[in-house]
Amino acid sequence: MAISDFERYPLMFGPSPIHPLTRLSQHLGGASIWAKREDVNSGLAYGGNKIRKLEYLVPDAIAQGADTLVSIGGYQSNHTRQVAAVAAKIGMKCVLVQEKWVDWPDPLYDRVGNIMLSRIMGAEVRLDPAGFGIGFKSSWEHALDDVRNSGGVPYPIPAGASDHRLGGLGFANWATEVAEQEKALGIFFDTIVVCSVTGSTQAGMIAGFAGQDRPRRVVGIDASAKIDETREQVARIARNTAKLIGLERDLRDDEITVLEGWAGDFYGIPVDSTLNAIRLTGRLEGLIIDTVYEGKSMAGLIDLVSSGDIPKDSNVLFAHLGGQPALNAYSALFQE
Ligand SMILES: *Cc1c(COP(=O)(O)O)cnc(C)c1O
Repeated sequence: MAISDFERYPLMFGPSPIHPLTRLSQHLGGASIWAKREDVNSGLAYGGNKIRKLEYLVPDAIAQGADTLVSIGGYQSNHTRQVAAVAAKIGMKCVLVQEKWVDWPDPLYDRVGNIMLSRIMGAEVRLDPAGFGIGFKSSWEHALDDVRNSGGVPYPIPAGASDHRLGGLGFANWATEVAEQEKALGIFFDTIVVCSVTGSTQAGMIAGFAGQDRPRRVVGIDASAKIDETREQVARIARNTAKLIGLERDLRDDEITVLEGWAGDFYGIPVDSTLNAIRLTGRLEGLIIDTVYEGKSMAGLIDLVSSGDIPKDSNVLFAHLGGQPALNAYSALFQE
């Protein structure tokens, strides 16, 4: 099996755009920094990285005769918002278990941004006060049972569409897409910087790039503040995905890099470096990134370039995975 053998249900505009971040590169004084924009990859509810993963889950859901996509995330989950959009697009129902993963005091945290969009798109949103975790929960089992008891056929999609047999395929294909875009642009990105939480985004990239001739660094930046779990999850999904797409060798440990240092103490709570990164890319590039994910991975990129860990002659590709709708729930941080 190769990645091209898997059925893919098209949900994106086409390849997501790649463009240079010229003023940010100049400001940091080294390394040529570009972005690949998953935040504008689709016309479905502001896009994002989960749309790309779901292109490979939808054919499986249809083949199983499912009529309801069931998924789980935090109150401001980007993932569940993208599942709601995909369900609407393919004419399925949607049930979302939304847990209190983040202890954030904004009074509109369960009303604006992603959760509002999911409700607009007709998903059944079930708020659950349980805490952060990517395992299986009783509220989740209840949601699946309720769909079955009312005569429906649920298709369960785990948090971030990660812990799923097909979860890594979307970003394995991203690696192929990057190689094609590089040919057209006449450039080679030796370093990829990507945010990691549930893991299949980075894992898919690692598996996909491992089959290409020219090696490159895929640097994951943990945003979960649970580095051991993130590393374990990325490594496991990368190895499973590599097998699935027919890579004829084992992945080496040095191909799986997840760095800590920019997540702060908690998932979903920004720290100074997050807010500085958000303001910097906003002011230099008009590029909007969020407080939960991309602000943290961009903070990592900024430090790695500034310190020379990523050398000055590097071509760096920042994977912008989306997530801006959640910013609405963090307005107290941006009053001036
Ligand atoms: C889900 C998400 C991530 C993390 O991707 P994983 O595949 O869960 O590691 C990063 N950024 C944004 C905006 C996301 O929505």
